[in-house]
Amino acid sequence: MQNVKIQVMTNNLFDALGLKKAVVKAIKNIGYSKPTPVQAEFIPVALKGRDALASAQTGSGKTSAYTIPVLNRLLEEEEKTALFVAPTRELAQQIQTVFRDLAKDTKINTALITGGKNMQGQLRKLKSNPRVIIGTPGRLNDHLKRKSLKLDNTAVVVWDETDRMLDLGFMAQIEEIISFLPAEKQTLMLSATFPPRVLKLAQKYLNNPEQIIIGGLNNPSANVEQKNIKIEGNEKLKKLTEILNKLKGQALVFVKTQRAAAEITRYLKKNLINAGALHGGLKQKDRDAALKGFREQEFKILVATDVAARGLDIPSISTVINYELPQNPEEYIHRLGRTGRYDKTGVCINLIARADRSAWKEIKAFLEKQTSAELPLISPKEDPAQKNEEQISAEKRNVPERTKETKTAEKAPSKKIPQKTNIAPEPQKDLKKEEYVFTPFKKVYVGKIKDEKPKHLQKLPRRKFGKNAKKRKTH
Ligand code: AMP
Repeated sequence: MQNVKIQVMTNNLFDALGLKKAVVKAIKNIGYSKPTPVQAEFIPVALKGRDALASAQTGSGKTSAYTIPVLNRLLEEEEKTALFVAPTRELAQQIQTVFRDLAKDTKINTALITGGKNMQGQLRKLKSNPRVIIGTPGRLNDHLKRKSLKLDNTAVVVWDETDRMLDLGFMAQIEEIISFLPAEKQTLMLSATFPPRVLKLAQKYLNNPEQIIIGGLNNPSANVEQKNIKIEGNEKLKKLTEILNKLKGQALVFVKTQRAAAEITRYLKKNLINAGALHGGLKQKDRDAALKGFREQEFKILVATDVAARGLDIPSISTVINYELPQNPEEYIHRLGRTGRYDKTGVCINLIARADRSAWKEIKAFLEKQTSAELPLISPKEDPAQKNEEQISAEKRNVPERTKETKTAEKAPSKKIPQKTNIAPEPQKDLKKEEYVFTPFKKVYVGKIKDEKPKHLQKLPRRKFGKNAKKRKTH
């Protein structure tokens, strides 16, 4: 009751979460007046120092949900450091921006350790003993192997988009990083979905985590209206051009392959539509320039592969267009989530030609299946406070050995399957238009660990993915 009074008096509900005054002030300075549901749920758990396994909908304020308690902890324990790990360079960069904004009135310095960036610059940065390291698995391991990065003082580690990291083949890299972390630390693991490999990782490395799911697992953002446009013959490019010519705001156009991204961008530019391309085949400086240009609204359209599907927060994106549907239905939800951020609304347009129908059927079935997750997702371990010395040393023996070889590649080991994109303009035909709109899902589910017998992992419902889901990763 007292808390309620305080909230009203200060008009900033972050006061009620148990944060340090300096942190509440920093949050206020960024302009946030009240926590989002994921923040209200996650921050108190993280402040308790407990491990956590969490999932939240796209655009729901997840990044601040974990950066805020980490800042709080680093201000309380001045000799300690924190590590954030993300699947893509762009996401790591974004986490750094969010953390820096939040910590701008403190002396806490950060280092961005991702592939594609100059090694010398990173070595210099690491010598200045940054208290926050933000990186992608490959490059972090490179530095750990060279001993230019030490993680001995890490108080808290955050794994963001864990399922994506595992999709990209980073399991060994993640375990390698864990082997350099101290046994005593807090682990916060965020994952959009919880396939068995994520749960296995969580079961192995998290200590009785609090398990939190906000807004249901895999529910698309309710802020986004979904529209399908049926495409006859080879009229996709024509339809795309038509949509883009009428567009208000910015659009992110998703394709499957690097080649398609490059070709469609070229085509749009030729047709006087100012567009940029973002995919894993570009040099890092071109990737940075594409994202910067788009963020700063130098161009309205960005044509991208799934390298842009996760986590990117560009509030001015009003429209997501699936020129080609994703291979994996889960990625559909992430692509869609690039619009409708926080309190904004957006539209997701799917261009469905005959060849896309079966992929759409799978996505539709997947969306209809998603409701809520049953918690707990992983079974509780014994209370660490109750552990005897024997148990602790047995546990320490379980820490993975440092593997001798670390893959240095930043990118996932992926198979490239060259795909032809038909970009030649088609002869004019009368379009038999068929547009239909889906009602957005509006399920809200906040889950916490229940006091019931844990269910065995095998009992979790199995998800169906596209036939080629594993084979084609062309970011
Ligand atoms: P995220 O899901 O972390 O990428 O955040 C999505 C968007 O919500 C970002 O543009 C944030 O700046 C914004 N945001 C996050 N938390 C809050 C909050 N408490 N109040 C207002 N905006 C927020």
